[in-house]
Amino acid sequence: MTLAQQDASAASSTHRDDTPQQASSTLPVINPATEEQIGTIPANTTTDVAAAVERAREGGREWASYSWRRRCDLLLDLGRRLADVADDLALTDTIDSGNPISGMRHDAARAGEELRYFSGLGGEAKGDTIPWTASQFGVTMREPYGVVGRITAYNHPLLYAVGKSAAPLVAGNAVILKPSEHTSLSTIRFVDLAAGLLPEGVLSVVTGTGAEAGNALVEHPGVPRIAFTGGVPTGRAVLRAAAEHIKHVSLELGGKNPMVVFPDVDLPAAAAAAVSGMNLRRSTGQSCQSTSRMLVHTSIAQEFTDRLVTLVDALRIGDPQGDDVEVGPLSFNEHYQRVLDYVEVGKSEGATLVTGGKRPVGLDRGYYLTPAVFTDVDPRMRIAQEEIFGPIISVLTWTDVDQMVELANGVEYGLTANVWTRSLTSAFQATQRLDAGMVWVNGEATRPAGVPFGGFKHSGIGQEGSLGELLGYTREKSVIINLV
Ligand code: NDP
Repeated sequence: MTLAQQDASAASSTHRDDTPQQASSTLPVINPATEEQIGTIPANTTTDVAAAVERAREGGREWASYSWRRRCDLLLDLGRRLADVADDLALTDTIDSGNPISGMRHDAARAGEELRYFSGLGGEAKGDTIPWTASQFGVTMREPYGVVGRITAYNHPLLYAVGKSAAPLVAGNAVILKPSEHTSLSTIRFVDLAAGLLPEGVLSVVTGTGAEAGNALVEHPGVPRIAFTGGVPTGRAVLRAAAEHIKHVSLELGGKNPMVVFPDVDLPAAAAAAVSGMNLRRSTGQSCQSTSRMLVHTSIAQEFTDRLVTLVDALRIGDPQGDDVEVGPLSFNEHYQRVLDYVEVGKSEGATLVTGGKRPVGLDRGYYLTPAVFTDVDPRMRIAQEEIFGPIISVLTWTDVDQMVELANGVEYGLTANVWTRSLTSAFQATQRLDAGMVWVNGEATRPAGVPFGGFKHSGIGQEGSLGELLGYTREKSVIINLV
């Protein structure tokens, strides 16, 4: 048995007997670096999900009765358990998702940070006092919803399992996680870490397909709050299903993010940012905030593109378990084929493929693709409009700021944007005009805990990673008090 096989079977066999993980049918777990099956996950059904909801409701009542301080102390303990096995869980994510091990170690550390950040905010889920008359006043109080369904995308499995549980748990809710069927292992293992620490049912996982397990969570009347991370089409389906029950839904959806490069920049720094902004090293470009549309001033476009291509070509592609590997395979075959199709779409639309878009030499198995750069991209092309969610960069050019803004905003998405310039005025004027929920000025990819993250337009509803997220897992109740 290989390390990968041991890892997968350990992950899928450690759930407690009374969790809904005991589904009778299973789904295969494929290592995208080798295309081999390394284990299975339970294919939970609507009945399994209903059982998880029952347990969550019961556990959630106890959890909500704790003081916020006690809840946060327990979550900090959970963070310590997580830290003890962080390297192991990072390896699980690498084997399961194909993301480079260095990126997954970063994710594991960041996951712990999210738990600590929200645990430090526990006392902030509080209400207000509203003056009225000498004998009358209003107060508001914040209550948990009860059960929160947390449906997550496949690209940062552990980070999402931990980071996206933290705020709803701190607020006093029970959380049922539904990871992607393609990368469920680390979520299962994270939930196992909570055994004996949090009340039974407070943190659980349902696995299986989105169409069955995910949809069952959205449709269950006992889950009043749904938080979804994924693509726009699925987000729409979730909203429609939730509408039947008038649920509170927040959505973190896709992006087709512009990186705007003014002619006055430090070109080497901007080109390097374009590569790291793609998140190739953390998730092979499978990132909602990937800087997949370079909007470069015409006067520097050639030199910028040359530098970009040199940097992209120098990336080390290979077995994602290797410490020095920078780009791994895409996470699953269906998506790999989709991204390969986009390479053909770009070529057939008339864009120039300057580099990449091929299976790397010497890597005959696994869902590998050399990162691609397209130039001569017309903004109406599909590669300029649609989220590819992979290692494909399009370079577009502009000559005046109005044209640049039109290009930047001319897509259905509005998640992130990056503006590179030495001029504070240019940076601020551009930032004010960009339809994006998050803008980096002379930066990319990383953001400190506490900075809200969320999309405009079709990129989502709501923000995460901040106090607002914590409050978003509470219902505000108003009380009028009359002194008699
Ligand atoms: P999908 O939309 O395909 O899936 C997201 C999650 O929804 C998965 O767990 C999936 O399960 C589940 N799901 C699928 N169908 C349903 C349904 N009918 N009801 C309920 N749940 C369902 O996204 P991907 O996993 O492919 O992730 C990529 C997308 O996520 C990109 O668009 C990316 O931009 C976006 N994303 C956004 C982020 C943000 O913060 N804004 C962060 C990360 C990613 P299963 O996989 O088992 O089918």
